[in-house]
Amino acid sequence: MQTHEIRRRFLDHFVKAGHTEVASASLILDDPNLLFVNAGMVQFVPFFLGQQTPPYATATSVQKCVRTLDIENVGITTRHNTFFQMAGNFSFGDYFKREAIKHAWALLTNSVEDGGYGFDPERLWVTVYLDDDEARDIWKEEAGIPDERIQRRGMADNYWSMGIPGPCGPCSEIYYDRGPEFGLEGGPEADEDRYLEIWNLVFMQNERGLGGTGKDDFEILGPLPKQNIDTGMGVERVAFLLQGVDNVYETDLVRPVIAKAEELTGRKYGVSHEDDVRFRVIADHARTAAMLIGDGVNPGNDGRGYVLRRLLRRIVRSAKLLGAEQPSMREFITVVRDTMAPSYPVLDTDFERILNVAVGEEAAFRRTLVSGEKLFETAADEVKSAGQKVIAGSEAFALHDTYGFPIDLTLEMAAEAGLSVDEDGFRSLMAEQRQRAKDDAQARKHAHADLTVYKEFVDRGETEFTGFAELTTEASVL
Ligand code: ATP
Ligand code: MG
Ligand code: MG
Ligand code: MG
Repeated sequence: MQTHEIRRRFLDHFVKAGHTEVASASLILDDPNLLFVNAGMVQFVPFFLGQQTPPYATATSVQKCVRTLDIENVGITTRHNTFFQMAGNFSFGDYFKREAIKHAWALLTNSVEDGGYGFDPERLWVTVYLDDDEARDIWKEEAGIPDERIQRRGMADNYWSMGIPGPCGPCSEIYYDRGPEFGLEGGPEADEDRYLEIWNLVFMQNERGLGGTGKDDFEILGPLPKQNIDTGMGVERVAFLLQGVDNVYETDLVRPVIAKAEELTGRKYGVSHEDDVRFRVIADHARTAAMLIGDGVNPGNDGRGYVLRRLLRRIVRSAKLLGAEQPSMREFITVVRDTMAPSYPVLDTDFERILNVAVGEEAAFRRTLVSGEKLFETAADEVKSAGQKVIAGSEAFALHDTYGFPIDLTLEMAAEAGLSVDEDGFRSLMAEQRQRAKDDAQARKHAHADLTVYKEFVDRGETEFTGFAELTTEASVL
């Protein structure tokens, strides 16, 4: 089943059950605390917090998500994209646990002819929060899942909150057993590669207080006056299973970029593990980069722009390591457009702009990559021949300052060479540079000089000049 069809079936299933279909929000919301939208419920937060009254009691959506936390996993696990689509159904004080479980089970196990995904019920496992006997009983009654395939997990895995006082509650997750050839017996507790997480059902039933020590331990004040449902199903993960491929990078919407990379590099996917990781990184990141640029992100040195820059530079470097001599970004982004535009028309309507941003970053980085790599190799050789293991912070700083190497790239290259980097040293040099830039900016501001530096802001229609610090501040994500 094609990804497009998986999305459609999800929405149809819930619309049929009375939900209002709501379009995906942008990846970028006007919230400085949130780098990117990373879950379907984000656009509904004001409803869950009771700050706004929803115009509908139940809703369904397929939300674009970006999770930077998963960058390191890409290509290595079978299941982590940086960009993915989270399909969800939401109840704002309307139905609760029983209906949420019934709906999810029906969609997963109904036959394909009946509008479902046709999963074999015997291969589905679920987890519930430690003391959530109510959820366990519903799974048994409504889905007929035996106790052996229901696992209990603690706060860290199966209790949801927004990290602040407000709604919270237990969750229940659905996993698919890929079979003994993919790992250990024993359910998701034993092996999350063999048992693939596909859907998370959150039962917002309590109110979180101020107390406790943090993420996995917080004060629960008592039941909410109105209970809500928030669920998220990974569209790419369902596609991975229904298409009978080995991971989320080989599905119909991502694999074509790998094919393009094979064509451009002359190497084959599926021959060496190292190369395969690079192919998957290219395919995953090209899609994420196109989607981010589509929603208005430009490469930069901090925040969102830095994430985009890092993704684009990883594509360039991975392609080079696969043997691509010529620039290849144009081809990758074009394939992303061809596969993704049917669901995200901005990739078509804004194609030239998206392409120019991506190709521009590639060109800038390719100019410095070769010299930077030489500098890195010299430094690495010196460290090795001195019988040491750590590359000095000053070398990492020089790579960053002169060649625009993000620190993550230097860390990655060091790891590949069996070395580490003095990150503290790097950071303190960065801090010194930041201070110098601030002082300079201050001086220039007072002198009313060099207006061209912030012309860019004015061009973008921003009326208030917020200072040079923004142009020079290094990423908070570093
Ligand atoms: P995992 O444990 O596999 O990292 P998660 O528990 O972090 O997943 P949730 O926050 O529960 O994921 O998100 C809801 C659903 O979104 C997951 O059940 C999964 O199907 C999907 N999902 C989460 N992260 C990713 C990702 N990086 N790539 C693709 N799908 C994802
Ligand atoms: Mg995760
Ligand atoms: Mg999980
Ligand atoms: Mg989860």
